[in-house]
Amino acid sequence: MDFNLSPDLVRWQERVRAFVRDELQPHDAAIEATGMVPAESLDGLRRMGLFGTNTPAAYGGLGLSMLGSCLAVEEIAKAHTAFYYLCGVNVHIGSKPIEFAGSEAQKRRWLPELASGRTIGAFALTEEDAGSDAARLATTARRDGAGHYVLNGRKIYITNAPEAGLFTVFATLDPALGSRGIAAFVVEAGTPGLTVGRIIEMAAGRGSHHAELIFEDCRVPEANRLGAEGWGFALAMRCLDAGRTHWGAYCVGAAQRLLELAITRASSRRTFGQQLREHQGVEWMLADMAAALHGARLVAYEAAWRYDRDDAAARTRAAAMSKLIGADMVQRVADTTLQIFGGAGYSKDEPIERIWRETRVVRILDGTSEMMRRIVARDLFREADRRNAPV
Ligand SMILES: Cc1cc2nc3c(=O)[nH]c(=O)nc-3n(C[C@H](O)[C@H](O)[C@H](O)COP(=O)(O)OP(=O)(O)OC[C@H]3O[C@@H](n4cnc5c(N)ncnc54)[C@H](O)[C@@H]3O)c2cc1C
Repeated sequence: MDFNLSPDLVRWQERVRAFVRDELQPHDAAIEATGMVPAESLDGLRRMGLFGTNTPAAYGGLGLSMLGSCLAVEEIAKAHTAFYYLCGVNVHIGSKPIEFAGSEAQKRRWLPELASGRTIGAFALTEEDAGSDAARLATTARRDGAGHYVLNGRKIYITNAPEAGLFTVFATLDPALGSRGIAAFVVEAGTPGLTVGRIIEMAAGRGSHHAELIFEDCRVPEANRLGAEGWGFALAMRCLDAGRTHWGAYCVGAAQRLLELAITRASSRRTFGQQLREHQGVEWMLADMAAALHGARLVAYEAAWRYDRDDAAARTRAAAMSKLIGADMVQRVADTTLQIFGGAGYSKDEPIERIWRETRVVRILDGTSEMMRRIVARDLFREADRRNAPV
């Protein structure tokens, strides 16, 4: 087993790291203060191909492996989270429904727009009464007999809804069929009957937006359906594997930034005549952070590696574990870093409290930590049942 990244990946990692340091991080404080992401940063993200890292090159993306994509995410996570919401979410749940289920014509029509960042994609699954239990969604799609589906219902918390040019919308053709009644549709912004509703204020993530979507007799051409009727739920879950793999890497990048800040602070701050880092209590805090981060990074890279291999069950479990482990790890690292900074850590003079708030969401979105545990546990049970089955 070789734990070294290939020279190509190392070069890519260094390029993104320099870009984030020079072109994104300098804007962090202003984004937090104004809620505006500068146009030049967006241009930089587009120039670097960060809206399409994992999108196949044939459709305008960089065509990187999932590991290459995760290395980029790790670096982006060291800057304000608004950058990741814009480009990173576009790479996974924004683009994957079309990549996985689109016809050749659909892929050629939409993926190059998404991969270039000219158009932002959004993923509309969650509803007020259907979050973790997403198969109970109530948005309906009914054929109108004239080449269209008519969508009615409401979605909530949809990332990038105000900015998006394309929405993948999950709707049921027959609620009695449960998850097997769901289909996915691409709905273009501006389609009559689609309204972006209330923007929901979140604990963190200024500069990015999460909103309601309202569908009122919204007519969508049959040509915009992704895959077969009844396959929408399975498609959503497959896309979330990509999202969770990326979020695992996001946690690693954010924790790396926090650890570096904590080491710098513990080296410069003195108490009781010594550097903070010379007190064993603080030394152990730093060591525990580094050990937890290292473990989460290995799991994140393994999840990325599995993603690129054709074993759906292993990919789903690895993605769930990576997000579960990463989300807990980064919260502990953020909390410890804040503690090491003392009052300064809790104040808005330093970025720690912002990152502490920003990383809290990973335990919730793209499936909560409880849902990740459920995925892992059910996979364990399947394995045990197979092992114990009479031959
Ligand atoms: C910032 C942000 C961005 C988001 N972006 C998007 C997006 O772009 N698109 C989209 O479709 N959705 C999006 N979401 C929605 C997100 O995916 C849901 O919030 C999430 O899946 C949880 O659903 P819920 O909020 O309805 O919580 P609920 O499902 O009501 O769960 C509440 C709590 O109960 C727990 N729980 C539920 N069932 C069980 C169980 N069986 N066993 C144990 N515990 C359980 C949950 O883990 C959770 O802790 C976003 C959310 C946020 C906060």
